[in-house]
Amino acid sequence: MYRNFRNVGKVVYGPGAIRQLESILDPVRAAGGGSMVFLVDDWFEGRDLPERLPIAAGDRVHFIDASHDEPKTSQVDDLRDGILAGQGLPAGVVGIGGGSVMDIAKALSLMLTNEGSSTLYQGLNLVKRPGVWHCGIPTISGTGAEVSMTAVLTGPEKKLGLKCEWTPFDQLVLDPELTGTVPTDHWFYTGMDCYIHCIEAETGRHYNAFSKAYGDEALKLCREVFLEADAGRSRANDEKLMVASLFGGLSLTYSEVGACHAVSYGLSYVLGMRHGIANCVAFRQLRDFYPRGVDEFEAMVERHGIELPEGLAAEWTDEQVRRMAEIAYGLPHMWDHAIGPDWQREITLDRLESLFRRL
Ligand code: NAD
Ligand code: ZN
Repeated sequence: MYRNFRNVGKVVYGPGAIRQLESILDPVRAAGGGSMVFLVDDWFEGRDLPERLPIAAGDRVHFIDASHDEPKTSQVDDLRDGILAGQGLPAGVVGIGGGSVMDIAKALSLMLTNEGSSTLYQGLNLVKRPGVWHCGIPTISGTGAEVSMTAVLTGPEKKLGLKCEWTPFDQLVLDPELTGTVPTDHWFYTGMDCYIHCIEAETGRHYNAFSKAYGDEALKLCREVFLEADAGRSRANDEKLMVASLFGGLSLTYSEVGACHAVSYGLSYVLGMRHGIANCVAFRQLRDFYPRGVDEFEAMVERHGIELPEGLAAEWTDEQVRRMAEIAYGLPHMWDHAIGPDWQREITLDRLESLFRRL
């Protein structure tokens, strides 16, 4: 029940905060004696953001394609090998993008100083040495990956995070101006990741005053952004959602995700379905677990005219459904949070298979 967690080191927040980056990097370059690696979501390639970055001689910029697959262990290993063979050990890693780039930046920082494949370190406290200094600059709000203790990667055997005390960022730059260009469907799916984190946190048995304080505020902000009179896309709401994402992540630090994330992991692992939309698809079928949350979610879907895919299971083979059920079943900490230590009495592979067949 006790989590002696390391929070992010420093946070700068506010519209235009990215202009602080040069003064943030200067002392890191001086202390680390070297260059920077910038990992930038490739949506920004050819746009003005890369030109606004304080790139110095010897720095490298890698554009990351986050439009299809979720981050992979092989992707992080290849990046690490290329960087060490080319520019050598950098002074720092700066990740600019959504949850995908946040996780790749956190994992890369660790893998630059730990030998072998990142598959060796998927789990809790398996990483042997601190990584290099790393900074996160989110450009889409909701996952809480900017503040979480884990860097979620999909490997050949599992989708699981590298979770240790050196995973969290040393520095966050929270600039809500960077999120204004997110397409509305992704704005909704990733924003709902935050909403669902809070609902799962508050309905499970690990919920407590620490988790509630952050979660209540994050939920209030989500309702303002997605449900109430001034809901919708606006600068003011971009500011709110960025803070909601951070607080939702902090709420989870002292609680846990639940049934929706277990089911969503099955979808992502077997189909490669992206995290935000997978959560949305799963959540609306989990009225048994989250009756009020699902009602509110459906109101938000309707309010923003979001069309979520339905009838997906008709296309799936029995083998795929079985594998999804196995992946979801293999996340005991989520079921233990959602149901309790006797969760296996309620959750069986057959029940999960029939749940997946409803999607
Ligand atoms: P994402 O990083 O996958 O990006 C979604 C899409 O939005 C991409 O196509 C990207 O190019 C685009 N995009 C991002 N910023 C943009 C901008 N400003 N303008 C235009 N387009 C932009 O999205 P996400 O939902 O933030 O992240 C999902 C990932 O986060 C998954 O891999 C999931 O496993 C991970 N995740 C991690 C944690 C954690 O605690 N580490 C928690 C939840 C989710
Ligand atoms: Zn999530």
